[in-house]
Amino acid sequence: MDGNLSPNDLSHIVEADKAHVWHHLIQHKQFESKDPNVIIEGKGMRVWNQAGKEHLDAVSGGVWTVNVGYGREEIAKAVYDQLIKLNYFAGAAGSVPGALFAEKLISKMPGMSRVYYCNSGSEANEKAFKMVRQIAHKRYGGKKNKILFRDRDYHGTTIGCLSAGGQDERNAQYGPFAPGFVRVPHCLEYRAADQSAPKQHYGEWAADQIEQVILREGPDTVGALCLEPVTAGGGVITPPEGYWPRVQEICRKYDILLHIDEVVCGLGRTGTWFGYQHYGVQPDMVTMAKGVASGYAAIACLTTTEAVFDMFKDNADDPMNYFRDISTFGGCTAGPAAAMENMRIIEDEGLLENTNAMGDYMLGKLAEMQDKHTVIGDVRGKGLFLGAELVADRDTREPMAEKRVQAVVADCMGQGVIIGATNRSVPGYNNTLCFSPALIATKDDIDHILSAVDGALTRVFG
Ligand code: PMP
Repeated sequence: MDGNLSPNDLSHIVEADKAHVWHHLIQHKQFESKDPNVIIEGKGMRVWNQAGKEHLDAVSGGVWTVNVGYGREEIAKAVYDQLIKLNYFAGAAGSVPGALFAEKLISKMPGMSRVYYCNSGSEANEKAFKMVRQIAHKRYGGKKNKILFRDRDYHGTTIGCLSAGGQDERNAQYGPFAPGFVRVPHCLEYRAADQSAPKQHYGEWAADQIEQVILREGPDTVGALCLEPVTAGGGVITPPEGYWPRVQEICRKYDILLHIDEVVCGLGRTGTWFGYQHYGVQPDMVTMAKGVASGYAAIACLTTTEAVFDMFKDNADDPMNYFRDISTFGGCTAGPAAAMENMRIIEDEGLLENTNAMGDYMLGKLAEMQDKHTVIGDVRGKGLFLGAELVADRDTREPMAEKRVQAVVADCMGQGVIIGATNRSVPGYNNTLCFSPALIATKDDIDHILSAVDGALTRVFG
């Protein structure tokens, strides 16, 4: 840490935080007996807190966001240059970075054509849901308006997104939800609820479960299917072989729009620009947020095909017929300016290649750790988006108790390594340690992370 803040400044900051900040996703009672963690500074893969303690960040800012690492002066400079030229104008007009980033982004997404700017993953998904509903009104007399979402997937925090939320633990106490959202089963073979699921062709079978829901609901009532390419907070769920091609087939068969939520996977996390690009599918709508500008500015995008875009151009004399939507801060130019530089860094530094190489290395090492630690029931993931599911019993796959999983996370933190855990409060589901280091991670960084995890597992489970 560069020491710009005096000890007095730091203690004042902590007191101000304790007195006035309502932190995300946390029970505040604990701060009556200890201080919150305040992150003061970051560089590369590392961050420093108020005590000056260095942490190796294995979760890219906590939630899969800082893909290119901390302290990127090039991005800060690009944002500065843009802000003093033009900081904002509402998105009914265009902007220089908005146009150039859209062109660059679409060049990495064959088949996609249009970029709609907004600020958060939730907002991008809401926009997509609204488009589906409007298309239902424009084309299908309002009927084809249902949106399918999958068990364990998450699409955001608003009431609309929670209505499409497959993680019950996040939804409890926030209902009632919006109508017209219908759940389909997850595709995690390790946790297949249906014991009759076939061992061979499991992927196709899991996708066929979606078709069953469509047939039950009536295909003429279903407008879209919204899926994460690799499920993130729901337990790092990689799709089984054969799953995605069958999903695509089903969507085409019933004229259902395929909306892929790339809020976590987008911009390199899995080793391709977008997660879906591993699986040979062509979506109709793609949403993205976290890695778009690696957290240097708030930006999210909804991209669509030209065919979806065209549906909003017909009957131009009807004043109701365009996409009647706005995002005030979708007109901020800092977002696309940062995103442009973020993308340049990923390309120039070969970060997709690094993600593939380091991801394979880390996945291999995690699999080796399974031999030593019987609490690791399953390891999975893609690129630098990996999970190790902990179980109390390997044979029965009984999930490890949440408290013990948290003890592993806390032990790593004590060693100066920040890891994550998903599904912390899902009874009977899975508790998965989560790793998503920045795409710049080296072998030494990965070894450092895994050595902390190894030590933590030994201390917590013996
Ligand atoms: N979709 C997915 C897959 C996510 O993981 C998240 C955030 N964790 C969101 C959407 C919502 O993004 P935001 O928090 O930016 O609204």
